[in-house]
Amino acid sequence: MSDLILQTSQLTKEFKGFTAVSKVDLAVRRGSIHALIGPNGAGKTTCFNLLTKFLKPTSGSIRFNDVDITHEAPAQIARRGVIRSFQISAVFPHCTLLENVRIGLQRQLGTAFHFWTSENTLNRLNDRAMELLTEVGLQDMADEVTVNLPYGRKRALEIATTLAMEPELMLLDEPTQGMGHEDVDRVTQLIKKVSAGRTILMVEHNMKVISTIADRITVLQRGAVLAEGGYEEVSRNPQVMEAYMGT
Ligand code: ADP
Repeated sequence: MSDLILQTSQLTKEFKGFTAVSKVDLAVRRGSIHALIGPNGAGKTTCFNLLTKFLKPTSGSIRFNDVDITHEAPAQIARRGVIRSFQISAVFPHCTLLENVRIGLQRQLGTAFHFWTSENTLNRLNDRAMELLTEVGLQDMADEVTVNLPYGRKRALEIATTLAMEPELMLLDEPTQGMGHEDVDRVTQLIKKVSAGRTILMVEHNMKVISTIADRITVLQRGAVLAEGGYEEVSRNPQVMEAYMGT
């Protein structure tokens, strides 16, 4: 198997003549934390939408684990293990944390909302949900109602529900957005922890987070790749400095 878990080739998305993503070659190494960065409007969200097939590319291709998935449906891609973190709104606010993760597990098994789930199965699912909550450090809050959770902890819950889908490649959408320092540090460490045995591609604006955990960075500007490399290399690139600072 190749070193690369995900590879796009000349990936392009046009909206009525406007090119939002332009001939992007993205190469994500297996087991790495890869950050996708760039100023607002650079095409990061569109890229994520193309990778999960929420949007269809205009041209170009996407390979996952050496298989061309360009024309696969979103559900097929999710089954292969490409999972985008759920937005907080996708978590049921009036369920407990444990119930939310269990629903994620049931969804993965295709048994969500079945009333005839046996007690045995339910116990096994609850045990697994508890393991996942423990993995993200929320075990003590398992029986709390989700709506009462502080914001930073909701992102941790979102990561637990994503893990329930058994991701091989996790796509994280601005995981530290809107957080205070303490929560940022906690979520940064959590991402590092859950990256063990998985690959993470994340859109992130916080440079401290990126310098702490990203193995590789791709910088987008106006839909195209401006630079690619490690943090030191990318942060010293004059074109990147110009794109960010206008210097
Ligand atoms: P980023 O996530 O880096 O901020 P986006 O991927 O959201 O950037 O957007 C890239 C560009 O594509 C922006 O100029 C945006 O206005 C445009 N765009 C995104 N989605 C659409 C759409 N559905 N229709 C038209 N233009 C879009």
